[in-house]
Amino acid sequence: MIIKPKVRGFVCVTAHPEGCAANVREQIDFVRSKGSVKEGPKNVLVLGSSTGYGLASRIVSAFGCGANTLGVYFERPADANKPASAGWYNTAAFQKEAVAAGLNSWNINGDAFSDEIKAQVVALIKQHMGKVDLIVYSLASPRRTDPETGITYKSCLKPIGQAYSAKTVNTDTDEVSTITVEPASTEEIEGTKKVMGGEDWERWIQLLDKENLLAEGVASVAYDYIGPSLTWPIYTHGTIGMAKVHLKETAERINSLLKLHRGVAFCSVNKALVTQASSAIPVIPLYISILYKLMKEKGTHEGCIEQIDRLFRTQMYNQSCLDFDDEGLIRMDDLEMLPEIQQGVESLWPQVTTENVFKITDYEGYKKEFLKLFGFGIEGVDYELDVETEVDI
Ligand code: NAD
Repeated sequence: MIIKPKVRGFVCVTAHPEGCAANVREQIDFVRSKGSVKEGPKNVLVLGSSTGYGLASRIVSAFGCGANTLGVYFERPADANKPASAGWYNTAAFQKEAVAAGLNSWNINGDAFSDEIKAQVVALIKQHMGKVDLIVYSLASPRRTDPETGITYKSCLKPIGQAYSAKTVNTDTDEVSTITVEPASTEEIEGTKKVMGGEDWERWIQLLDKENLLAEGVASVAYDYIGPSLTWPIYTHGTIGMAKVHLKETAERINSLLKLHRGVAFCSVNKALVTQASSAIPVIPLYISILYKLMKEKGTHEGCIEQIDRLFRTQMYNQSCLDFDDEGLIRMDDLEMLPEIQQGVESLWPQVTTENVFKITDYEGYKKEFLKLFGFGIEGVDYELDVETEVDI
């Protein structure tokens, strides 16, 4: 099949196997160029391992630390008419590279929120890994079925209390306009907490503890975002922000549990980046376009792999203590939040229009990064070639 990008709103419904493989190799090369992480984890479970921050966590664990990795993800294989999802191709490429490097890695495709997948993970850890010493929780999902009640909850990206009007860029038409997002209902707030809060993370850790699969010194990390006040109504003070409050409260409980294993659990606040999850949030693509422009100019721009590589090398496995902020969070968004960067955002934000969005922001970079998530626009990949879409993991 000759595969071209088909963008529908904030998703691309096609993905290119060779482009995705090139992305994965690029991330692996970056990690290798930094040398090996001393005293890194040995057996790592990554929940949400196929794209974005989870994929980067798996790559740093394997190619930086030499760890055995078990990745759990929810991806679509190819069928006769359609290529597989990007996360499928990423995982296939990761697996191939891991095998070539002599690294052990196992993959489970399915709903990480379900008890069935949890049971499969437990069985696999018992059979192949013994115990795990790092659990990365990096799921981003629009829905979750609570296995205890069978109720399916939906997450949404809405403000709370009052409508929020702000500038946004329509990534289909490239038009800059003002959008108004109506406030969430109580049900929507609760739903988002159920999906993106910490309930499932805690269920995972409790199960692994009960099954005696947590190694001495085990660590668990989940990813959080805060960002500037400009985006707080839609993010930090919105439905997703409430879910993150729940995630942080959960981190404290998990931390108490892991202390029994001389371990630690915490949230790492990461940088705003183009991922499948973040492109769905109103206003954020425009913020990211401005942010990338300023951070690239300053030479401080990082992608998922640079962020996670720095998290491992300078925080988690630096043979010293974690450097928590006053709220017990690890701040990998430090460079994003520097006053000079945020002052730059504040000054550019009111100036952006449809006419100048490509000129005064890095919207072009945003669009390229977005297509790259699906394996498109990568140098060295011939998109006119007929490629095999069915790729085994
Ligand atoms: P992403 O969309 O790139 O990745 C989500 C992962 O979750 C994929 O591997 C997907 O397969 C998996 N997944 C989704 N539903 C699943 C299910 N039911 N079962 C198993 N796997 C499932 O997302 P991301 O942007 O990397 O986000 C990961 C975490 O990082 C989220 O908590 C997000 O809030 C946080 N974060 C993101 C940003 C950002 O700018 N992207 C910034 C800071 C923090």
